[in-house]
Order: sequence, then C-alpha cells, then structure tokens
Amino acid sequence: MSDKLSISDLPLKGKKVLMRVDFNVPLEKGRITDLSRLYASLPSIRYALDQGASIILMSHLGRPKGKVQADLSLKPVGKALEELLGVPVIMASDCIGEETETLAKNLKPGQLLLLENLRFHPGEEAPEEYPEFVKALSRLGDVYVDDAFGTAHRFHASTAAIANYFPGKAAAGFLLEKEIEFLQVVLNPTRPFKVVIGGAKISSKIGTIESLLKKADVLMIGGAMAYTFFKAQGIPIGNSLYEEDCLAKALYLIEEGRRLGVRLLLPIDTVVTQAIRQDAAFYCVEGKQGIPDGWQGVDIGPKTIALFTTELQTAKTVFWNGPLGVFEVEPFSRGTMEIAKVLARIDAVTIVGGGDSLAAIQKSGTGSKITHLSTGGGASLEYIEFGTLPGVEVLSESKGSN
Ligand code: AMP
Repeated sequence: MSDKLSISDLPLKGKKVLMRVDFNVPLEKGRITDLSRLYASLPSIRYALDQGASIILMSHLGRPKGKVQADLSLKPVGKALEELLGVPVIMASDCIGEETETLAKNLKPGQLLLLENLRFHPGEEAPEEYPEFVKALSRLGDVYVDDAFGTAHRFHASTAAIANYFPGKAAAGFLLEKEIEFLQVVLNPTRPFKVVIGGAKISSKIGTIESLLKKADVLMIGGAMAYTFFKAQGIPIGNSLYEEDCLAKALYLIEEGRRLGVRLLLPIDTVVTQAIRQDAAFYCVEGKQGIPDGWQGVDIGPKTIALFTTELQTAKTVFWNGPLGVFEVEPFSRGTMEIAKVLARIDAVTIVGGGDSLAAIQKSGTGSKITHLSTGGGASLEYIEFGTLPGVEVLSESKGSN
C-alpha cells in the first residue's frame, strides 16, 4: 500500500473530506445487529475530525437496486454513529442534489454529514452509464478518502470512478490500508503457509484457489466445494451440492497442485444427512467410499478435523475463507468451530476473511486470538487472485512512490 496516498499524507485542516465507508450493516426490523463495520471506520473518521476537517460520509446499505427503499435508509446508522463518536451526525435525505450540496457546503470543521444510501441511485453501481451521478458526488468534497474495503473490489461510482475527480487527492483510509497490509502478508507469507478454503460456491473462489496454489505449501478444502472435487474424480456424492461447470477446473487444480508440489487436501471423511435440520439423523462416511444416494455431505468428519489440525499446528502463516460445513445448523457446525479454535491457539499469523468465516469465529468466541479478521470476503479473495483491487488502483500515488 506504500505506493498509494494515505489519509495521513493529506493536509486536512479546513478541508471537506468526502469519505467512502462501508456501513452495510446487518439490520433486523430497523435495528443494527452488528456494529463491527461502524467500529472499523472510526479511526479514519476520528483522525480527520482531529485534523480539523469536516466529513461527508457515503455508503451503500443492502441492495435497493437503484430505487429508494425506506427500510434501507442509513438513518439508523447515523444515530448509532452519533452515539459511538459522541458527535452529532447530520443526515442528508439524498446523496446528491441541491439540498445535499448546500448541507455539505455549510459544514464547519469538526462536523459530520452522512449521505443517504448511495444505491438508491442506479448510477452508484453503473458509473459508466451515469457519469452525471459521479460528478454530482464529487462536488461534495475537497479531497477523497476510500475506507470501504468491503466494496473495494467493485468499480462503482463512490468506490472507484469518483477518484478521477480528485487527482493527487484520492487517498486510502486507515482500514483500507490495514486490510491491504495483511493481504500482502498472504501474498508474501512466512512459510509454511497453509490455507483453508470452504463455503458453498466453488465458482466464486476458483480463481483465488488457483492463485493460492502458487503460494501455499498446503491447501485444505472443506465445505460444499469439496464435493465438486470428489465428483470430478468419480467419487459418489449423493445429493451433495456441487457445480457442474467447475468439474474440469477442479481436476485441473488437483493436477496443478501435483505439478507445483503443493499438497491439496480434501476431506478424508464426511458427515452426511438426509435433511439439513437440527434434529435430522446423520452419520459419517469415509472419503473414497463416497456419499450414498439420498444423503448429502454437510460437514467435515472427525478424521478430517484431526488431519487439518495437525497441518495447521506447524503453519507459520494461515489464511482461512469459508465455513467447512453448514455451520449455521448445530450438528453440522463442528468442523468449522474446531478449526476456528485451532487457528486461535497456534503460533502463526492467522488471517480470516469472509462474512461466514467471521460469523464462525465470533460464534466460537476466538476473535481476539486471530491476527487479522478481514471485513471483506469478496474483496480479500479478489486481492489475492489479482494482487490489486479497482478501488485501490484508482487512488493517487504517494509522493514517495514517484
Ligand atoms: P460461501 O458464501 O461460498 O463462503 O458459502 C457459505 C455457505 O456455505 C454457508 O452458508 C454454509 O452453510 C454453506 N456450506 C458449507 N458447507 C456446506 C455443505 N457441505 N453443504 C451445503 N452448504 C454448505
């Protein structure tokens, strides 16, 4: 990140800082159920206020798809932020327009304005089609700071296109910097470097797996994506989830692992059930024997937990993304929970990315023992795959990097 301008490089006194944050918080009946993303944004906000700036905060919330949707208003977020900061938060009823511009213009140093949900406008997700939207946003600030790591993999108006309007004045916030710093550890790890990948959708992670094969010493695969690897090798998988389109790629990855001398470890036993329900019957099958018709794999079994544990104990760097089973349903959460506990006790740099993996870590109560909990699942995977992100690329170069 040292080649990109940092918020700490910008002179902020008396400036209006247009700051993209990730306030896409979980909401239940208008109540925020997890404040983590608000906490994560505080260092940059506090810093800018202390420097004598005023701040115009912008974020999306949920997927309103370009239309105003009252239950996705950022108003409850404004209230929560006000409580956390102890500073009043002025709420704009839109993110662009005359009224919003007036509110931004009248801000005094130390004051905060929160714009309404960016995705109430179609221009946020399609900046090429709506250049006027990008321009209208850009008029609100003197400098631009991107601190929304969770959306840095999207080329949206507020996360990327807008940087064009701030030549030499588009900087990374502290959260974005910290996230990239830890992902660079993954790209240049202390060995042995061991990776655990789980989750349901192999298609969304296959590019990352391919990149990680070139970096890791051991790659452990769990979750539903393991069954695509089984099926590709002709092992029966019963009713388990798999992705037909990824069968050839799975075989290729197994071959590629062999070629590169990387051990790609698949589950050696699997917990199977006929229904994903708390009270459903389940038992464990051995790896090569496969999963019988009418049954589906829902977790890694005890032998796999032991195998992965042994591997992790000798790691110096670990990256984990994706649950190893249907961790939301009690009997099938064991594999995920056990691996979370192993990560918490090993002597290694541990980096965990992705909403579900974070939820699993939180559920197991081990969060404080993990070196870095990434706030962006998709963004962290894309950074590992491509070595950069659209929202990072567009930032101004730091003076030292010229
Ligand atoms: P992803 O978004 O691809 O990381 O997938 C996360 C989801 O994968 C979670 O909701 C898990 O319940 C689900 N998952 C993990 N393992 C399995 C499995 N064996 N069968 C079905 N779903 C699974």
